[in-house]
Amino acid sequence: MSILERSWIVVALVASLAGPEAEVREVIEAYFRADALGSAEELKRVLGGAPLVEKRGSQWVRVTPEAIAARANGLAADESRRVRRVESLRVHAGEASVVLTVESPRDRREERLTLRPADGGWRIVSDRRETRSKPSPAQQIQSLRAEMMKPVQPFRLLGNIHYVGANGLSAFLLTTPAGHVLIDSGPVEMLPMLERNVEALGFHLADVKLLLNSHAHYDHCGGFAELKRRTGARVLASEADGAEMERGGRGDFAYGDDYTYEPVTPDQHIGDGERVQLGGLSLTATLMPGHTRGCTTWTTRVEEAGRTYDVVFLCGLTVSPFKLTNNPSYPALVADVRRSIARARALPADVMLAAHGFWFDLTGKAKRLAQARKRGDGANPFIDPGQLGRHLDELERDLDESLAAQERERAP
Ligand SMILES: [Zn+2]
Repeated sequence: MSILERSWIVVALVASLAGPEAEVREVIEAYFRADALGSAEELKRVLGGAPLVEKRGSQWVRVTPEAIAARANGLAADESRRVRRVESLRVHAGEASVVLTVESPRDRREERLTLRPADGGWRIVSDRRETRSKPSPAQQIQSLRAEMMKPVQPFRLLGNIHYVGANGLSAFLLTTPAGHVLIDSGPVEMLPMLERNVEALGFHLADVKLLLNSHAHYDHCGGFAELKRRTGARVLASEADGAEMERGGRGDFAYGDDYTYEPVTPDQHIGDGERVQLGGLSLTATLMPGHTRGCTTWTTRVEEAGRTYDVVFLCGLTVSPFKLTNNPSYPALVADVRRSIARARALPADVMLAAHGFWFDLTGKAKRLAQARKRGDGANPFIDPGQLGRHLDELERDLDESLAAQERERAP
């Protein structure tokens, strides 16, 4: 068969399918309307006596259109809250199979309908529906936290930098003979893990002298108040993020009062370009407002095997989930974050580390580092001069897409 002949068959097939598909779609639309109306009469008309069964636990139970209608609570409220979608529609051998979903903020219903031709049109002959409740926002946060808080074997990352955080929430211990610097603590519930990690590497939490922070959100400095009490370490923070720490995360421009923590007052404010020193270690702060107003990127140089490396602890520049334009609580947000991204690009970075492990492939690199050390070949995957640029490219793409989407939404 020639290509031409074959393509004619395809065209013929498509043409013959378009007819019944369109007809089936019409029936489904009528069904959606009846469902939205919550009218037993409409449902009966569309279903025409077809059995409607519903899964309850492990049982399939037959339900009447009246029972379905009794659950509906008014057209207007219903229509505005629900999303109805045809997930798949197949017509084959004189039978149509349709999978559709109806989503509300509380649950997601999946329905499998079978239709057959009747009286020159199509009729629903069976409907099996299954409703699953969605996790509540609190449950969603809970499961996200569990994922973020998964333990990670602590390890020496490079030079005097040690990773002592969890899977998704970073904490870096920089050791010196004069005591240690900790960059980020994670939330307060991460402290027992943090302490175990520090001890496992042969260090002591009590020797932490300085607490530095990427940005003043609960998941990065929620443990500071408790750590400060226990160790007497000094907290250094930018003025803007220091103020947010003093409010315990309240009044955050993006999250409001949603993610609060025990307030802590910084012992000292750190300005843009200022340096912090301890036991021969020197860290420079670069302020990168955006994700928070005082987001702070720390940079340092470390030595390993006779070579020196530039290390960047990126504060976090994600803003795409936030309200980007006409945001009265942060009008200059987009301009600020663009400037911050440009400043981050200019930083020399043999090694890029950050407040969340997934921004620099913590898990993958840690695994490869452990393998390299076992082999004794000295390779260190964290030395990756392209990492910062790749991450910033991704951030910029996200920002542009989110901006475009938000502008589309605002357009009439
Ligand atoms: Zn944050």
